[in-house]
Amino acid sequence: AKASGGNRFELADAEADARAITRHGLTTALPTALERGEFFIEYQPLVHLGDGSVRGAEALVRWLHPQHGVLGPDRFIPLAEHTGLIVPLGRWVLEQSVRQARAWRERHEEAGPLRINVNLSPCQLTHPGLVQDTVDILERAGVEPDALCLEVTESALIGADDDLLKPLRRLAEMGVDIALDDFGTGYSNLANLRRLPVSVLKLDRSFTQSMQQFPADPVDLKIVEGIVSLAHSLDLAVTVEGVETGAQAEQLRILGCDTAQGWYYARPGPPERLHELALVDATG
Ligand code: C2E
Ligand code: CA
Ligand code: CA
Ligand code: CA
Repeated sequence: AKASGGNRFELADAEADARAITRHGLTTALPTALERGEFFIEYQPLVHLGDGSVRGAEALVRWLHPQHGVLGPDRFIPLAEHTGLIVPLGRWVLEQSVRQARAWRERHEEAGPLRINVNLSPCQLTHPGLVQDTVDILERAGVEPDALCLEVTESALIGADDDLLKPLRRLAEMGVDIALDDFGTGYSNLANLRRLPVSVLKLDRSFTQSMQQFPADPVDLKIVEGIVSLAHSLDLAVTVEGVETGAQAEQLRILGCDTAQGWYYARPGPPERLHELALVDATG
């Protein structure tokens, strides 16, 4: 027993080492990865719960690492935030996504204007170039500000002072939508919402998951119902993420949520996939 305990310990140790090496390796490889074009973006449709039409997509970045294959953002975004590379990486994601939105518009006008949602890291929020970079990117692509929605996590804005909110206000005044991402996971005061320049609440996946059982937990139902009615009374739209089943979609629609996103509709995929989905949708 002692020996196997020892082996287990060594194994755990070795795994920890491997993780640390990968972490270190990934961190040092990040800057060249951006130069070499190893990042790519997948798009996941945002669907109107009322009529099922595709209204836009969220841009989700991936890293095609030459040794490790495709890495999800959870593996490298924290590292990029730590080293500051998130600023140029985030700018790259924004530029690609906005250009993609332009391409969708040109190829499928009949699909209606598709909007693009892009995640913003807290480090980008405090970067002084954010507003000007965004204006430049939109202008270069010939895309109207109201086709863009920037997603900021609730936790990034908890206790935010006016300096942090100023760039978001500027963007909101220009017509860019600001969404509060992962809503319901932080501790933000609901009354605080009025202070924030947001126009969309993205309900965290944990709420969607609680709609899985049937009948759903009555307390969870009440909570979502309350959030939706508060959001609507403040003129905020409600998007739900992580919708995996038709039952969840139906429940969330009944609760008054506006837009949904999740595997039930489509996994994140290449931009052509969104073309197809939006087009199918537009032609019936
Ligand atoms: P998020 O913004 O909350 O994005 C939603 C995540 O849920 C995505 O994971 C998406 O693939 C996943 N998802 C979508 N539908 C379903 C579903 O039905 N079931 C389940 N279980 N999951 C679903 P992903 O792509 O791994 O991204 C993880 C996080 O990485 C994102 O969470 C976001 O916070 C961050 N991220 C992604 N792209 C960027 C980026 O360009 N910049 C920054 N700063 N963060 C990013
Ligand atoms: Ca998001
Ligand atoms: Ca989210
Ligand atoms: Ca999330």
